Amino acid sequence: MSPPVVRFAPSPTGYLHVGNARIALANFLFARRHGGRFLLRLDDTDTARGKPEFADAIAQDLGWLGLAWDDSFHQSARLDRYAAAAERLKRAGRLYPCFESEEELRAKREQRLRRHQPPVYDRAMLKLTPAQRAAAEANGKRPYWRFLLSNATVEWTDLVLGPRAVKLPAVSDPVLIRADGTPLYTFTSVVDDIDTGITHVIRGEDHVTNTGIQRDIFAALGADPAAIGFAHLPLLTDSDGGKLSKRLDSLTLRSLRADGVEPQAITSYLARLGTSADPEPLDLAALAASFDLGAFSHSAARFDARQMLALNRRVLHAAPFAAMAERLPPGATEAFWHAVRGNLDLLNEARGWWDVAAGAITPPVIEGERDYLRAARDLLPPEPWDGEVWQAWTTALKSATGRKGRALFLPLRLALTGEEHGPELRELLPLIGRDRAARRLEIAAA
Ligand code: GLU
Repeated sequence: MSPPVVRFAPSPTGYLHVGNARIALANFLFARRHGGRFLLRLDDTDTARGKPEFADAIAQDLGWLGLAWDDSFHQSARLDRYAAAAERLKRAGRLYPCFESEEELRAKREQRLRRHQPPVYDRAMLKLTPAQRAAAEANGKRPYWRFLLSNATVEWTDLVLGPRAVKLPAVSDPVLIRADGTPLYTFTSVVDDIDTGITHVIRGEDHVTNTGIQRDIFAALGADPAAIGFAHLPLLTDSDGGKLSKRLDSLTLRSLRADGVEPQAITSYLARLGTSADPEPLDLAALAASFDLGAFSHSAARFDARQMLALNRRVLHAAPFAAMAERLPPGATEAFWHAVRGNLDLLNEARGWWDVAAGAITPPVIEGERDYLRAARDLLPPEPWDGEVWQAWTTALKSATGRKGRALFLPLRLALTGEEHGPELRELLPLIGRDRAARRLEIAAA
């Protein structure tokens, strides 16, 4: 196939959450896999709901994930293109003016439902005469514009879901232009997909009906919808299996970043979620090499934050110091990173271990261990310390006290770190140093 062109098209009405990130990633990996182009399009014609701050935040968050786009544009910069396309549809009789209010439409819908008819718009305004329209406009009303759907069943072979069909007679003619003249996403998206030469539309399953409608609009604008591949990824559910929950909606990339989750853990998890392949910590190039739309299941994918955190651990354990240095507490050394990385679920936990290694912590008083801890303090070897100091110290302590195993080690760990579990003391102790170690043993013995 010729190199594909795909787009991720968020509306700047909020921060990106994991569901959006998954769609963006699928588009990015598909483009990389096939040597194509990945566009970022901001669907910002709805000025009432969209905000420029969100557009900036979306770009930042995608950048943080590493999903570099080849080109980007805002729909708000292309209003003349949409106006021109709308004129063509009007001339072809496919866009017709409407004047019904929300209230009138609601009343009609309710009436149809009472009669057990599908609540589809009845096209009453198609019968509007020029005189009636002139009268409405003389009354100060401005029309909004509906697209006259064809009477067809739209069929395509979805690249994820397989054969799909949308019966257009069961769908209301969509409004494409508001009364204030602003165009709606359903329309602008098609104009852009044509103008930018989009070859594949990859988006969420919630857009399946839109695809039926938009393929009809493609054809009305003279483009061949059969030349475009459509792929709809099933939605995410939370780990209880519930519908895309509020919780997942609020799982934004911002909040994950603030929590210290690694972008690679997110991309590695989302790239495989909903496929039968196990997620592994891979970089984007490796994820792209194995990316296949056909590998996604037809049913909803269950997002499990624990699995993502398990990947996060694996990413951290393998991360070299140089990649992390900037995000570690000031002064943190390579020896420190190697000592603690195997114990982190999230990078921000390094902060606490840095306090253990190089700051001031107050260990708990350990009941019944006064004599043992004092002996431990007295046996601390003189500095300078190296990687052998732990071994030397505990060997001396063992022969002085006769202790071994847990009884030997646990009081030392508690006194030196304030925690029952943590990084190898063999690696931590030289970082802590003799003064701090002696002070902590003294406090814990008190
Ligand atoms: N702005 C639309 C959305 O966020 C884009 C959908 C599409 O990819 O066409 O749902």
